[in-house]
Amino acid sequence: HNQGDRLLQSVARRLQECLRQSDTIVRQGGDEFIVILEDLQLPEQAGQIGAKLLETLASPYREDGYDFFLTASIGIALYPDDGDDADTLLRNADTAMYEGKSSGGNTVRFYTGRMNERLQSRVSLENGLRRALERDELQLHYQPQIDLASGRLLGAEALLRWNDGGRLIPPDQFIPVAEETGLIVPIGLWVLDTAIARAAAWRRHWQLRQGMGATPPRIAINLSARQFWGGGIAEHVLLRLEREGLPPSTIELEVTESVLLRQEADCLEELRRLREAGVGLALDDFGTGYSSLSYLRLLPIDTLKIDKSFIFPLDEDQDGEAAAIVRAILAMAHTLGHKVVAEGVERQTQLELLRAMGWDRFQGSLESRPLPPDAFLQRYCP
Ligand code: C2E
Ligand code: MG
Ligand code: MG
Repeated sequence: HNQGDRLLQSVARRLQECLRQSDTIVRQGGDEFIVILEDLQLPEQAGQIGAKLLETLASPYREDGYDFFLTASIGIALYPDDGDDADTLLRNADTAMYEGKSSGGNTVRFYTGRMNERLQSRVSLENGLRRALERDELQLHYQPQIDLASGRLLGAEALLRWNDGGRLIPPDQFIPVAEETGLIVPIGLWVLDTAIARAAAWRRHWQLRQGMGATPPRIAINLSARQFWGGGIAEHVLLRLEREGLPPSTIELEVTESVLLRQEADCLEELRRLREAGVGLALDDFGTGYSSLSYLRLLPIDTLKIDKSFIFPLDEDQDGEAAAIVRAILAMAHTLGHKVVAEGVERQTQLELLRAMGWDRFQGSLESRPLPPDAFLQRYCP
């Protein structure tokens, strides 16, 4: 706390040094400051001063022999265009600041009416999402995973769908909002519980149709990094499995490397516990994002899922870079003893290439798009 306070004081001093005697600086609370610039000749001047502030704030702060690096995000609202009272001006400056923050920070943004629209639609998405769980608007669809060598059905990935009053919203649109707001935690638990209950129902169904030795598809469940923060996720999964009477190997959890970006929660411990119990663990979207190879060694995974962006260009450029990367990933994964899954396989030629390389499993629209559970059963175990 003391160090933080001294840091804030240094920031305030730097702001003071940059501004005129007649300007006003206020600490709003936390790490937010308000600057009021009076008698601007031109709106652009506010932008120039903003840029100067960013630069001043960016040089390192020396505290107790350590260098601290800070960046700021600045939002600007202009009187009278962006509001003619203090509340409106502050609110709009705040909106502009958040826009800057969410695009990576360390920027100056002027408020625009369009920001307000974006904010509005974001707020209504967020509100809708808050109610989606209570109103039973979430569904899981299942996409088959096929063994390349035998053509057998091996698994099914559970993929979240939100039916917002008849409008099906794709996860790419609402999962980022769910992650930012923390709503992904209750939603993610719902996904886990629903998918595990489905795995149990399918096991009974398969055994009924094909005899006690039948193996239903293993259900793959996506987990967001945020679901690991508080701890306890392994416990939850194992308890659920036990309650449903399911062997842990009937499910697989898909995580991305981002689970390791925050060190404070002991994600690795949780993952190891799940792995030791027999739950399958897959690294999703491999090849995008950070893809630090050292994570491959650290994560106790048994399966690697290569991102669809590597599969798309595969057949157009058979001897080119895409194929070389796919081959290299396969060789690396197999050397580490992992299975490999290709996602987004849309064309037969892509499939043939993967087969020739010795790839293990695939999913994609070539076999089937994600299906509602009834349609899945109808197709794979009528
Ligand atoms: P993902 O886990 O990498 O899922 C694969 C995505 O590829 C799915 O998109 C799937 O529908 C899509 N896909 C499958 N085959 C093809 C194909 O042949 N061509 C093309 N173009 N796309 C194909 P979807 O269902 O829109 O999900 C997008 C992402 O949302 C998922 O990517 C995952 O990151 C996230 N997500 C989905 N459900 C959940 C969930 O329950 N929890 C969490 N945390 N994330 C989820
Ligand atoms: Mg996935
Ligand atoms: Mg993926």
